[in-house]
Amino acid sequence: MTDVLKLALPNKGRLSDPAVNLLAKAGFHLDITPERKLQAMTESGDLKIIFVRTGDIPEFVADGVADGGITGLDQVREAGVDVEEVVTLGFGSCRLMLAKPEHRDWAGIKAVDDGVRVATSFPHVTRQYFEERGIEIDLVPVSGATEITPHLGVADFVVDLVSTGSTMAANRLEPVETILESQAVFIANRSSLADEYKGERLDELGWVIDSVLEAEGNRYLMANVPREQLDNVRQLLPGLSAPTVLDLLDRDEMVAVHAVVPEDDVFGLVRALKSLDAEGILVTPIERLVP
Ligand code: AMP
Repeated sequence: MTDVLKLALPNKGRLSDPAVNLLAKAGFHLDITPERKLQAMTESGDLKIIFVRTGDIPEFVADGVADGGITGLDQVREAGVDVEEVVTLGFGSCRLMLAKPEHRDWAGIKAVDDGVRVATSFPHVTRQYFEERGIEIDLVPVSGATEITPHLGVADFVVDLVSTGSTMAANRLEPVETILESQAVFIANRSSLADEYKGERLDELGWVIDSVLEAEGNRYLMANVPREQLDNVRQLLPGLSAPTVLDLLDRDEMVAVHAVVPEDDVFGLVRALKSLDAEGILVTPIERLVP
């Protein structure tokens, strides 16, 4: 029987679709029935996905219920579990922040008095943050709607996730300290990593995901340029590696240049190439990039 590698993915919420899409881009297409999104197998039959709550994934991976998983780094740190953080994934970016009501004076974290009430759904990380600074807080654990607690008179500060800051602002709260920078992360169980078969598959998954992420920020650029401009073109396209230069059939005065370039540079590069009399400029997405 084929060994099966088990991965835990968020069953709903903001990390769910990006995680499934990332796996699809990495070549693992899941057979998912939207109504009963509990489990899925890949076409190859050797990768099983279990869909669970984002907050449960660190524990499931640490306990070996799953060999690996995708969740938020904030959830991993809050669970306080020992798992390998294989690769950060560039989506689900947010900050866990300490915020105060707008009207409250702020003289820095060192000036916070013992006994202040801090409401959060991240009690572990929050307690640790204040303990490291020698401040004894009165922790108010909540499971949601943290922002309302100062207005209800049950907390002096809140610790919550912030991405745009608009929810905080709408609740007349002002973030003052970053406790943790978070984003989605691919984590793995340490014993699974040590297993010959599973370890190899998890490593492979790690670098395939990495190659998809690398590719996302880059484009493949092709252009025909006058041979006499080659030195100038080389200056423009240092790129990831030296550009590939190819002769063109029956056109001695021109050469084809191919290069991997950062997506953000494409606009400027196309303009610069045109000014060097480049022709037939073609820019395409890249599916995978293994350096
Ligand atoms: P959800 O399942 O939608 O509650 O997703 C929660 C996870 O999404 C968090 O643990 C974070 O890793 C991530 N996230 C990114 N931005 C935010 C945000 N503004 N608020 C809450 N969670 C966020």
